[in-house]
Parts: sequence; C-alpha cells; structure tokens
Amino acid sequence: MSTADFPFPVSTATQAKLAKLNINNIWDLALHLPLRYEDETHITPIADARAGIPVQIEATVIHQQIQFRPRKQLIVQVQDLSGHVLYLRYIHFYPSQQKQLAEGKVIRALGEIRHGFFGDEMVHPKIRTDIEQGLSESLTPVYPTVNGLNQPALRRLIQAALKHLPDDDTLPDELLQQLHLPPLLQSLKFLHSPPPEYSVQDLHQGTLPAWQRLKFDELLAQQLSMRLARQQRLKGHAAALTGDGHISKLLQTNLGFALTSAQQRAINEIKTDLAQTHPMHRLLQGDVGSGKTIVCALAAAIAVEAGFQVAIMAPTEILAEQHYLKFQQWFASQGITVGWLSGSVRKKARENTKTELANGTLQLAVGTHALFQEDVSFHNLGLVIVDEQHRFGVAQRLALKNKGSDVHQLMMSATPIPRTLAMSFFADLDVSVIDELPPGRTPIVTRLVNSTRRQEVEKLVQHTCIQGRQVYWVCPLIEESETLQLQTAVDTVAQLQAALPQLNIGLIHGRMKSTEKAEVMAAFAAGTIQVLVATTVIEVGVDVPNASLMVIEHAERMGLAQLHQLRGRVGRGSAASRCVLLFSEPLSDLAKARLKVIYENTDGFEIARQDLNIRGPGEFLGARQSGVPMLRFANLEEDLPILEKARNLAPLLINQQPQVVRKHLQRWLAQRAAYLGV
Ligand code: ADP
Ligand code: MG
Repeated sequence: MSTADFPFPVSTATQAKLAKLNINNIWDLALHLPLRYEDETHITPIADARAGIPVQIEATVIHQQIQFRPRKQLIVQVQDLSGHVLYLRYIHFYPSQQKQLAEGKVIRALGEIRHGFFGDEMVHPKIRTDIEQGLSESLTPVYPTVNGLNQPALRRLIQAALKHLPDDDTLPDELLQQLHLPPLLQSLKFLHSPPPEYSVQDLHQGTLPAWQRLKFDELLAQQLSMRLARQQRLKGHAAALTGDGHISKLLQTNLGFALTSAQQRAINEIKTDLAQTHPMHRLLQGDVGSGKTIVCALAAAIAVEAGFQVAIMAPTEILAEQHYLKFQQWFASQGITVGWLSGSVRKKARENTKTELANGTLQLAVGTHALFQEDVSFHNLGLVIVDEQHRFGVAQRLALKNKGSDVHQLMMSATPIPRTLAMSFFADLDVSVIDELPPGRTPIVTRLVNSTRRQEVEKLVQHTCIQGRQVYWVCPLIEESETLQLQTAVDTVAQLQAALPQLNIGLIHGRMKSTEKAEVMAAFAAGTIQVLVATTVIEVGVDVPNASLMVIEHAERMGLAQLHQLRGRVGRGSAASRCVLLFSEPLSDLAKARLKVIYENTDGFEIARQDLNIRGPGEFLGARQSGVPMLRFANLEEDLPILEKARNLAPLLINQQPQVVRKHLQRWLAQRAAYLGV
C-alpha cells in the first residue's frame, strides 16, 4: 500500500478509492485529467441537434411508458419549445428515474441524438431536474472514476489540489517561451475548468497549448531518463565478445540457405556491439517470419566462441521449447552444450541444470522466465537474448535487468514500431531491423469466409492435406472462460474428425502439460499430425514450414496484432499458403474495420499503423502500444513533432542545466515509475 499524502483532509475511505485510481497525492489529483467534457452551458433546440454530437436539451415530458418487447425498457417522450419530439430510452432504469421523468416534468437531458427506428432518440441521457439552477458557466469535466466516488466529489478534490499546488514549474520561463509552451499549473487549471468560450470539440484537440505542455513534459521526462540510462550503460562494463568465427561458420554452412542481406546487416550490427566493453542494448525487429531466430543464434555463436554463456528466454513454453530444439540441432552437433529450463521442469532436473549453469558446464541455456529466477546463477553469462520481448511483463523485465546489468542484451520483437519512432522513443535502445523476408515465399492469400460456409472450409482442409501439406485450425478466443475455451477446442477436434475421418487431427491448448505440448508439436513438425487444432497458444513463434493453411474461427473477436501473428504461422515454406478467417455475423464496425485491414495487408508495419488509426482518436488521452511503456498524455503517432523537440532538448539540459533535469525527473518519475522499465 502506498501512503497517501494530502495537504487537506481526505477521509480514509476516499483515500482508498483514490488509491484505486493511482491517486496518492495532490500531483496525482492534478494530473487526473478529464476523460471528456460535458457542455451544460447552453440549451440546444431538438430541431437543431446534429446526430453524434452531445447536446443539452430542455423539454417537457409528454408521455412515459415501459415496453417489454424486444426487452424491458423505459421510453420517455419529451417535447421542447421548438415543438420537436424526442424519445429518451433506458434499458436499465430504477423506479426513481421513472419518478424523475413523470409526465409534465420539465427536465434537461444531456446526450447524443440518434435517428432511431421510431424517430429521434437519446439512449441513457444524463438528466437534470434542477432547471431553476440556471446553466453552468464553464464546461463540466468528466473524470475516470471508481464506484462510490462520484463526479462532483472528485471534481471538488481536484479543485482543492489545484489550489494547494505550489506554482513551481520544473522548466524555467525563458525555456518555456522558446518552446511556446504555457506554465504547467496554468495548463492544468485550464484543462480542469476550461473557460466557456472553448467548445467540447476544441478541448479534445491535442493541439491546445495546455495539452501540448503536458505531452511535452511527459515526453521530456521519458527522453531524459532514457538518455541518462544510456549514459549509465555506456559507462558500465561488459566483457567484449569477439569470436574466431569457427562456430558461426559451421552453423551457416549447415543451414541450407543463405542469409538475406537484411539478416546479414543485423548480425553485423550485433557483432560490432558485442565487441564493445559496455553492454549492448539492442532491439532486433523484424516482421513475423523474417528470420530473427538464426540471427540470434549467430549472436549466441559469437558469445560462445568468446568463451561465455548465453541465455535465451522466450515468453511461452512452446516457443522456448522450439528454440531449444533448434539450438540443439544447430549447436549440439558442434559439441556445444545446450540446457533447458522452464517452470515445468521437474525439481531434480532443474537442480541439475542450475548446477550446470553455475559451474559453466552448460554453454547455452534456453527457457522461459524461469531462467531469471533469483536462485539461478551463471558461471560467466555474456549475452542474454529475449524473444518476443514485448510479451514479458514489467516484473520479468526487471528481474532480467537485475541479473544482466553488465551483460549484453539482445531483444527481439515482431511488434512493429516504425523505425524512426523506435529510435527516438527508446533513447536507450539501438534498433536493427530485418526489413525483408527470406526469398521464395509466396504471399499468403487471405480469405474472409462467413462461418455458415464452414463445410467448404473443411473441404479445403482435406484438399490441403491430400497435397501433403498441413493445417492449423485456431479455435475462438473465449476471454470469459478458459474452461469453455478448452471445451470448444475439444468439440472442434471431434467435429473435424467426424467430417474428415481419414486425417490425423491433433489438439494443443494452454492447459496441457508442457511435455504433452512438446509431444504434439513434435508430431506436427514431423507431419504425423496433419491438422493441428489449437487455442491461441500457437500465436507466437511456432515454425512448421510445411503448414500451408491457417483457419481462424471467430476472427472478428481478435485484435489485429494477434491475427497478423497467427497468419504468420503459414507462408513459411515455398508452398502457396492461405489463411481463412471465419467470421460470424453480426459484425461490429470495429470488427469490420479490422478484418478489412488484415484482408488487404500483409506487411506488419502497415497493419500496426492502421491498427493505431482505427483505435486512435478515441484514445487521445494516452496511446498504448504494446512493447512501448505506457504514455498517459502523449500519442506517439500524432505527437512526433513534440517528441522531436523533447529529444533535441534532452541532451542540452543534461549538459547545461542538471538541476532542471533533476527537478523535472523528480516530479515526473514520481508520477510514472513505468517510464523506468523498457
Ligand atoms: P521469426 O522472425 O518470425 O522468428 P523465424 O526465425 O522463425 O522467423 O524464421 C522463419 C522461417 O524462415 C524459418 O523456417 C527459418 O528457417 C526460415 N528462414 C530464416 N532465414 C532464412 C533465409 N535467409 N532463407 C530462407 N529461409 C530462412
Ligand atoms: Mg520468432
């Protein structure tokens, strides 16, 4: 529990509620910005209200009724001075609301007008009956809150906080003038009680100076802390890893393919880093299937040649296991010892592996985050490789950081962050990008198929298998219940087996023991299982090049990144591959937009960009990209110019005004400990 600290009385009960909102002091309160604003400063005649824009109307209730079909709902008919009629509709309602909306009452309703089947309507509008109160003088902020803490109470607390905040800006006046930014306190006051001449639409624009100031402060804090971390790292010491090339040479000879030039470039960059005496901190980015694994294996080879141990960590057992098998195949033949450590390894074997890691018998260790538990120690760890880095939680990243402050780190991710963005945002991360796919791949053909046509898809499965290829069949994601999800997967196997009796159908799901999972994966890789029914556990990294058909059920429920990752499981060999996205009607607008993007695009970077676009505008209060520490105010796509400003200023401040740096970081890092974790 964090201890709360307010300069005015706040009851313990309220403190507990505030704590749920991560509010523990007056700065937290002041930075708890409105989610949106309501305009109760004037009345709009119903006749003038445009659809989709929130308005306040004032009208008399002329009729009230409870309907039972298609479901129970309260329908209230109101009419205003313009003579227009509007229906207020409540699907959930209390007797008190019925009373409030009795016939003859004059009320104000705030909401968006829709043109419904029966005429113009407002669904669940906010009602005021105290109309003698007159209109508000400023826009009303609406805050994110928790149960039991209502808007007026929260508003009062925030206003009190603003009164108590010292007018003590972290950035000097001259600097603010140069940057054309307003003081922080003034910006906060503006956003919490905007003057009436601003419209709700204006306030939602991130270009308002007050918003710009907050975004700038946030990004500056981020840039400063990253840059300081980098300075720290460059001062740190790590063993320079240079090899004689004997392992990597043999490894490449045995591959059966040549590296793409993008892979070659990436490994060269890594090689240069590894030869330095300070720790590498490099992100290897490449779309699904671009061939990151061999690049990291070559990096591992350099470290082993130099006489150091390497740890390779993956977020799931399946993925870690695959890497283990690959590394076995690539390295064991050269007499290099490869160990395996995951949560499911039995105690005795685990103790054994730990001993061998500690005494240096094992040169390579592959595993899950079990590799970085406190009780694991290494003889001479030189390089840590983290696959699908963004899938690890903050705690796991920290554990890794503690273990490896003086070792070289290579992170890998298929989550596309545009390169310029990645470079400027992660000031402490160098980025290598594999921007081409291995040759000879035929593009995956994506089809959107209504689930009513499932039988045709089953035929396609059969056809694919007859040609000697293999199939993934991904079961729907059921977020509410893992048991239900499992049940669905079992049913799917039975259904497919009944429809396609001559095929060998396997099942893999998250609840299986890892040994069972490994057996199934091995059978699929060997081709004895032709159709692999899977829950989304196969989402990351699974690599069976002979699989050429991917069927995804209820694709409309999945996010774009997930669909892209899943689809990337096929198209890994030379055969023309297909991805069938089964969907069920009705489709929400969001689902439609997503399916369109995945249908039209194969490039992960483009998909990520459009993903952000689709989700974008509604999230103006903070963009969340996986793999990027959460930003509360800035949005990396829109705010690139602000990021550039912050990025340019950071080194100047560090060199010339260390006291400003200290002050700014103190204020902002106290707010957002999350900045610290990459
Ligand atoms: P990802 O970047 O998604 O981790 P992988 O490393 O799993 O991709 O590689 C995908 C597939 O491409 C693997 O089957 C791998 O053996 C193959 N591959 C990688 N590099 C090349 C290359 N240069 N030429 C041909 N095939 C390659
Ligand atoms: Mg991979």
